[in-house]
Amino acid sequence: MTFIPHGDHLIAGKRIGTGDKFSSSPSIGSGFDFSVGSPDLVAEACAAAAAAFPGFAASSREERAVLLETIADEIDARGDQITEVGTAETGLPAARLEGERGRTTGQLRLFAAHIRDGDYLDRRHDKALPDRQPLPRPDLRMMQRPVGPVAVFGASNFPLAFSTAGGDTAAALAAGCPVVVKSHRAHPGTGEVVADAIVAALDKLGMDGGIFSFVQGGSRAVGEALVTDPRIKAVGFTGSLGGGRALFNLCAARPEPIPFFGELGSVNPMFILPAAASARADELGAGWASSLTMGAGQFCTNPGIAIVVDGPEADAFTAAAREGLKAVAAQTMLTDGMAEAYRDGTRRVSEGEGVKSLLVSACEGRSAAPYLFEVSGDDWLANEALSEEVFGPLGLVIRAKDLAQMMVLAESFRGQLTATLQMDDGDIDLARQLLPTLERMAGRVLANGFPTGVEVCEAMVHGGPYPASTNFGATSVGTLSIRRFLRPVCYQNLPEALLPADLAQI
Ligand code: NAP
Repeated sequence: MTFIPHGDHLIAGKRIGTGDKFSSSPSIGSGFDFSVGSPDLVAEACAAAAAAFPGFAASSREERAVLLETIADEIDARGDQITEVGTAETGLPAARLEGERGRTTGQLRLFAAHIRDGDYLDRRHDKALPDRQPLPRPDLRMMQRPVGPVAVFGASNFPLAFSTAGGDTAAALAAGCPVVVKSHRAHPGTGEVVADAIVAALDKLGMDGGIFSFVQGGSRAVGEALVTDPRIKAVGFTGSLGGGRALFNLCAARPEPIPFFGELGSVNPMFILPAAASARADELGAGWASSLTMGAGQFCTNPGIAIVVDGPEADAFTAAAREGLKAVAAQTMLTDGMAEAYRDGTRRVSEGEGVKSLLVSACEGRSAAPYLFEVSGDDWLANEALSEEVFGPLGLVIRAKDLAQMMVLAESFRGQLTATLQMDDGDIDLARQLLPTLERMAGRVLANGFPTGVEVCEAMVHGGPYPASTNFGATSVGTLSIRRFLRPVCYQNLPEALLPADLAQI
């Protein structure tokens, strides 16, 4: 590797190295040393963020839009470094990382356009009615204001788009909130290069360095100190159910509880309705196999569970899925821990009462190959553990005994990011009956596709009831995600001279 990371934290624009080091554990090549984070460094970053907040909150939308665009440019300027260190750390192919970089910079530029437009402020004005009887009405204006410093936990499975300058950071900066990022141990070097890009952008624009800090991990104390620091007002997180729940509980237990926007796991059920099953079971089986194995199944929207009514169509679907999965070679997972967790998950599912193994693979070290299982609707309903997410290329087919049981199965799922209907015209009535259940279950309901591609756009919802997310009113992808870092403020009878510039105009 030609690029050597410096290994330091970036606190309010300054590089800080500490004596205590941890080594990265890349997929390719040898590791590098990185400074271990500490509660003191977190406190320093949070103090700088709190000091920068009033000025940043008062900055114009245009100033923040230019910041987001400059960060995107600085990331693009470091594209080769990012690909080099990113492929080594994660084992992801260069094309995937380059695509993800495009998504990351595209997201930053999309937020720039979004705040320039100004609709997100949701400005409202109830004009004064001095002559109203029996009481006059005061002048009332409302708009959304930034909440304060935001903590962001980089996600392991999207080292760019959900990490240091990913969707959470872009949304928070767009809103006017300073950000403190806790780096992910799976890609500390990639995070460092992106953090350098953000610091360079702030520097170029002469903005307060406290708007952004980046603290390496290496110790659980870093994340704990970050979510409990009184200056942090909201948290963005993507990761495991256990880790997310622990941090969520810490946020709730603070003297001043704060919102924790965690995305914690989803099995993304796919319902194959009868007309679609009889028209194209083979095609659906093959399509499901390729969606399940994209990125070694390490997508939060991986459609891990398919529900189909038992019978010849279910046989055809399962056979096609098995053929498709069998053809996929072992892939490298992001970390040793994830590969181990995947193997544990395959064991747990295979040992479930009534579970039949249709495809069993051998995989070692950091590699993962597909597994396929099936289970009857009755056995699924009797075993709650089968509904837990297994992160990786594992498929489970549930054979419902009839359509009535398919409805019962739909009711049995916990909160999900997505729910998919595979349907033809003849399935409309059944789909209409299922829809209210799917809406209650998931943040995104889709027909005749696979949920793995998540469009970054205005209408996207990437969230859902717990445990898909800890806050069902929010999304972590798309422009609506800015709402997480805003709160409404009403200004009653304030003189024009005191109103924020954005409100004075309406
Ligand atoms: P993780 O173990 O939850 O870690 C995510 C981040 O939270 C890391 O920075 C970690 O810090 C921190 N953290 C976790 N528990 C903490 C605690 N109790 N106190 C303080 N900080 C804590 O998730 P991961 O490493 O990204 O992946 C592990 C598993 O999560 C995967 O195998 C998969 O099952 C799941 N996952 C799901 C999704 C999804 O989209 N649904 C995405 C990614 C991962 P440290 O590094 O210091 O531990």
